[in-house]
Amino acid sequence: MTINETFRRGVLNLHTAITGRHILDCLDELNRTQWLSYDNLMDMQRYKQQRLLEYAYQYVPYYHRIFDNAGFHPNDMRDNPAAFQKLPILTKSLIRENFSELQTTEPQRRKQLSKVTTSGSTGQPLVFYQDHAFRDNVTADIQRHLGWAGWKMGQLHAYLWGGAFEETLSHSVRNRLIDWEWNRFLSNAFTLTEEKMAAFAEQVRRQRPRILFGYASSLLSFAQFVRQGSYPDITFDGIISSAEVLPEAFRQIIEETFKCRVYNRYGTKELGGVASECEAQNGLHVSVENNLVEILNDGHTAQPGEVGSIIVTNLNNWGMPFIRYSIGDEASWADGSKCSCGRLSPRLKSVEGRIVDQFVTRDGRASWAGFAGDGYSSLLAQPSIKQFQIIQESIDNIKVLLVKDGEVPVSLLKRIERTMQAAFGEEIAIEFEFPEKISPMPSGKHQYAISKLSQSQGIGTNMTLTNNS
Ligand SMILES: [Zn+2]
Repeated sequence: MTINETFRRGVLNLHTAITGRHILDCLDELNRTQWLSYDNLMDMQRYKQQRLLEYAYQYVPYYHRIFDNAGFHPNDMRDNPAAFQKLPILTKSLIRENFSELQTTEPQRRKQLSKVTTSGSTGQPLVFYQDHAFRDNVTADIQRHLGWAGWKMGQLHAYLWGGAFEETLSHSVRNRLIDWEWNRFLSNAFTLTEEKMAAFAEQVRRQRPRILFGYASSLLSFAQFVRQGSYPDITFDGIISSAEVLPEAFRQIIEETFKCRVYNRYGTKELGGVASECEAQNGLHVSVENNLVEILNDGHTAQPGEVGSIIVTNLNNWGMPFIRYSIGDEASWADGSKCSCGRLSPRLKSVEGRIVDQFVTRDGRASWAGFAGDGYSSLLAQPSIKQFQIIQESIDNIKVLLVKDGEVPVSLLKRIERTMQAAFGEEIAIEFEFPEKISPMPSGKHQYAISKLSQSQGIGTNMTLTNNS
């Protein structure tokens, strides 16, 4: 163990002692279990699944009711694991309608719950609660994946990621402390102005983080900025692209620019890391320790190579369990061949998830439009909004489509306008429309941020590549 690693472990252990959180333990455990045999991995997953089902039946009113309605009892799993498939699929609409009933009634765990909002891939806002075990494992899964990309505990790493627009002081202090503990820094991908990218480039030059983590679209913007500027010396050991589809064309540009490999990652706010590319880049290994993944095509289990809906059961978030949750993305399984990395967890061959365009502004800024749905502010992920889409019609005009759930407060519309102008320029006109529904793209997918000026425009309709295979 290096001095740096020993020091960081000490800092993180202190964090555990003060907060009662267990990220480092989770990380050590994930780093151990990734090498288990296939049978041991599946045994572990079944054990966690069983405990989750028993807990949900006892403490979560929604599941007690639907298990009974489906004629299912957690004990059925002992003789017949396929009984699980009797359970109905959990959709975003069902979560909205049964929001309180989906939370645990266990008093101790209720105290841990913190609220999160996200829009997923489809622009359908989702509010949910997460508990400590979920959050710790989400972070640990990211850190494990950083390790696959070449990171070693204690090494400096950087994020091009969504920070907050309106961050409270306590949040800001806490985030800085956590950044220091992990030895990382972040550039807010919401507003990747030329100035911010230049500052980020200078910081990277000075401090030399070896790993970079970001959204596919923000990584592409940064790569293009570095190519146009005079930064040939900016390189990394590895880059992780997450939260959005990584088109092969993006990957090539980013890899060529930073002279390293880009690893694809499929993760979402409500599930954490679902699947990640390893060193062999031969599909994405499912994080079976944290998520149980099914792929269904027309109700039946998809064969390798057959595209279907991703249905995920998160094994950690007992505070608000998502059991057989349909996230709205599609994927296919890789064939059963062994990956040369030596890990035996099942792999996804491809994932078709979120596509988010960069918005272009008059002063030459490229702004990541994804902040509307995610990030800490989650501007449009509001209870009064059922679905949304933002479209950059021209350099000075953005159209915001909102499918209402009841009345949308005027104060919220003002806030949306204000935040959009802060992100995309004061001169931009924001136009609201309130349609009954929002139609999918010609591909059948929903895309919530579309720029008619963006170079990534159209990727959603004709590219679904996420890996080399
Ligand atoms: Zn592998």
